[in-house]
Amino acid sequence: MDDIILITKAMNLAAQKHIDQRRKGANDEPYINHPAEVGYLLASTGADAVTVAAGYLHDTVEHTETTHEEILRGFGENISDIIKEVTDDKSLPKAERKRLQLEHAKHASPEAKQVKIADKTSNLRSLFRAPPADWDDARKLQYINWSKAVVDNCRGINPKLEACFDEAYTRVVKSLKPAA
Ligand code: ZN
Repeated sequence: MDDIILITKAMNLAAQKHIDQRRKGANDEPYINHPAEVGYLLASTGADAVTVAAGYLHDTVEHTETTHEEILRGFGENISDIIKEVTDDKSLPKAERKRLQLEHAKHASPEAKQVKIADKTSNLRSLFRAPPADWDDARKLQYINWSKAVVDNCRGINPKLEACFDEAYTRVVKSLKPAA
């Protein structure tokens, strides 16, 4: 598939799948703003077309009714495998999912590692810009530290992308009140 077709096809499917969803933040952003940011972060830091397309699709299976079969049929095995790598098993308790995400990050493919870093970068940017109304600083810090731990297990592939994460991390940490 031509790169532009591949990427716009992924954008289009993501937009359809996330059509009714909103982000957790207090500004109630449309959900699609998040995969859009992830895709652009990947493209602008030199990731290849397959990784960018996977970036647009990364939350479709976890957050919508989309199946891995559907991704496989529409986008082929490479992209389907990346989405499998970055999709949490929602049948598991949340703490276990978080622990597994950390563990799986270490052994993930270079493509999945980049999607993970872009995902966490976008999430920390959102946390800075418009945190969920019911999150206090302790909750934010817990999320920030976990995100950084996942990203630390994904380093060594795309330094430009890592720099974007580090910038988002530093900015959001600075925005928290120092612990008493
Ligand atoms: Zn995401």
